[in-house]
Amino acid sequence: MVSSFARYNFDFIQSYCEPSFSIEKFQSKKSKIKLYCIRLPELPTIKVELCVQTKPYDDTGVAHTLEHLIFMGSKNYPQQGILDYISSYLYCTGTNASTYRDMTNYELSTIDKYSILKLLPIYLDHIFNPLLTNDCYLTEIHHINNEGHDSGVVYSEMQSCEQQADEILEQKLMSELWSKTSHYHYNYGGKLESIRTSLSLDKIKSFHKMFYTPKNVAIIVSGNIEPDDIMNVIYEFEQQNEKRITINSTIHASNNMQHKRKKR
Ligand SMILES: [Zn+2]
Repeated sequence: MVSSFARYNFDFIQSYCEPSFSIEKFQSKKSKIKLYCIRLPELPTIKVELCVQTKPYDDTGVAHTLEHLIFMGSKNYPQQGILDYISSYLYCTGTNASTYRDMTNYELSTIDKYSILKLLPIYLDHIFNPLLTNDCYLTEIHHINNEGHDSGVVYSEMQSCEQQADEILEQKLMSELWSKTSHYHYNYGGKLESIRTSLSLDKIKSFHKMFYTPKNVAIIVSGNIEPDDIMNVIYEFEQQNEKRITINSTIHASNNMQHKRKKR
């Protein structure tokens, strides 16, 4: 089937073919979001990955903490956990995400394309329009509990990392190999001390504005699904979020000069 990408305001960039699969790359003319479609007709599942380029500039773990908050509700779907609830209702294997030193990856997989097409707009709303509330920051990132101890999901997660020899060694190695001008220098998961003293919800909001722009996002779809189906979802999302996309592009352009391995 020949893709009608122009109808959805996409450019065709390039393609690569092998006997058992093919890869096509497209890019939205409007938002500059990139789409990679890996056609695997024999594959029983369809997988979608939404990759955001995220470069930490300190040890507060801002990319990692934002990844957690993305799942805590969005502008059009404010209920916490609704993404996982709907995905289980649609027989998807659930959603997952990982933060790396230079990107954050959001995943979704299912056995039929109709579930993907229903869930993708909801996922996009969470990624581009997260609520980022103070209540969620306290429970999910860091707070002081009733007994006066540091607590929070991310804080506890990183507490165990700081007690593992391989994590300590890797972090020390990377900070020695790379200078402070490189994002590879920093602890992208978050140092406990920095989470306690230097992280704030405002910093996370600024990081989101800076990096979660459509031109920083690549969507990779693999399985038995046509690119047109995904392009149609993106096209409609762009129509509904025109202002957000324009504002984001401007902020990203002005901040641009400031500066895989394990799942978190
Ligand atoms: Zn985590």
